[in-house]
Amino acid sequence: MPKSLSERDQLVNWHPYTQMQTAPAPIGIVRGEGALLFAEDGKEYIDAVSSWWVNIHGHAHPHIAERVAQQLRTLEHVIFAGFTHEPAVELSERLLRLLPANQAKVFYTDNGSTAVEVALKMALQYWHNQGIPKTKIIALEGSYHGDTFGAMSVSERSVFTRPFQQYLFDVEFLPVPVPGKEAEALQRLEEIAGSGEIAAFIFEPLVLGTAGMVMYEPKVLDQILALCHKHQIITIADEVMTGFGRTGKRFAMDYLTQQPDLMCFSKGLTGGTMALGVTTCALPVFNAFLSQDKTQALFHGHSYTANPIACAAALASLDLVEHPDFIRNLERISAAHLAFAGKLDGQPGIKACRQTGTILAVEFEVGETSYFHNLRDQLYHLALDHGVLLRPLGNIIYVLPPYCITAAQLEQVYAVIEQMRLLVVEQF
Ligand SMILES: *Cc1c(COP(=O)(O)O)cnc(C)c1O
Repeated sequence: MPKSLSERDQLVNWHPYTQMQTAPAPIGIVRGEGALLFAEDGKEYIDAVSSWWVNIHGHAHPHIAERVAQQLRTLEHVIFAGFTHEPAVELSERLLRLLPANQAKVFYTDNGSTAVEVALKMALQYWHNQGIPKTKIIALEGSYHGDTFGAMSVSERSVFTRPFQQYLFDVEFLPVPVPGKEAEALQRLEEIAGSGEIAAFIFEPLVLGTAGMVMYEPKVLDQILALCHKHQIITIADEVMTGFGRTGKRFAMDYLTQQPDLMCFSKGLTGGTMALGVTTCALPVFNAFLSQDKTQALFHGHSYTANPIACAAALASLDLVEHPDFIRNLERISAAHLAFAGKLDGQPGIKACRQTGTILAVEFEVGETSYFHNLRDQLYHLALDHGVLLRPLGNIIYVLPPYCITAAQLEQVYAVIEQMRLLVVEQF
């Protein structure tokens, strides 16, 4: 008997966010199509989390595949220092047309964490280059900006970051301005900003993903950003999760009137086809690096910076983002989520339901909550047993589907959440 993918995997691979001693065997996936994943044992799964929030158009999209194949035959890679190429130029041109009007330049990296690292370095060096001693960064409590050291530093300190605590730089954390907490957050910002030492404020606009899909309103974010601008604090919108339709508009920042100085993108950027990160900035940030002095340049880069195949995938994904079906799908999913949340609200076992655009989060009522509570694993496996991939964050289950998910598939996902609710009611 030849070994299965899953068996061979266990001999050689180390998986992310996985306790390798106790985790069940990984599921071998052999094919994807639309919202579906097909496993080697013949089972199929609805990918209701877009494979960690990246596959916004579903799997193996033919348009993206075609564009990537073409690019592979033309130019697979070229160094991006001293050289450039059509896919990177076109992608920057098209991205900048879609982003808030002040965004002027695009810097390429490989993933969300590095997009954040670059934004932090741009913000800190912006002040350094001008000889202004602003070195502190503000972030939101509970936020997640990635797993590299700088990104960890501006993220919530947790059991995940504890082994590295002494190597993380100091950050001021603001309470998330969820409804009812707006005044508190604004007041705290006023206090911190008064010190004059703050270089930058980094935030996940409108939805804090890893925190458990914690949501807050555009109005208070506009007030926060206005305060930052008043105090000359560089603002960094981390749209790695919210970008490309997640919140019901193309970008979460499209709900605001204020514009950020820097923006980070990755997850949805290539439709989940290739690893690519982007940091964009407003012109004053870029200009602060211009000098006859070479040491004023941004000394950051990766071997695969602006890889042409990744850029081609992003261009193909943008074709789909700019197609009229795109907004129609966002509206369809938002409406379905809202209707389902309405049905759940007030039911036994439900503590809260939240929805922003295509993101639905359901918080179950349980005694004490922890990421490691075994309820999380029970919910995860209950969903898989019903052919749905959902990844609970502790007692919170969220749906973040590819925009091509069908109405019937969505109903199947909701039915699983209803099963979860019954399980919670039984146990708590
Ligand atoms: C996932 C995520 C990141 C990190 O992106 P990676 O590509 O996983 O490194 C950063 N910020 C936010 C808001 C994210 O959701």
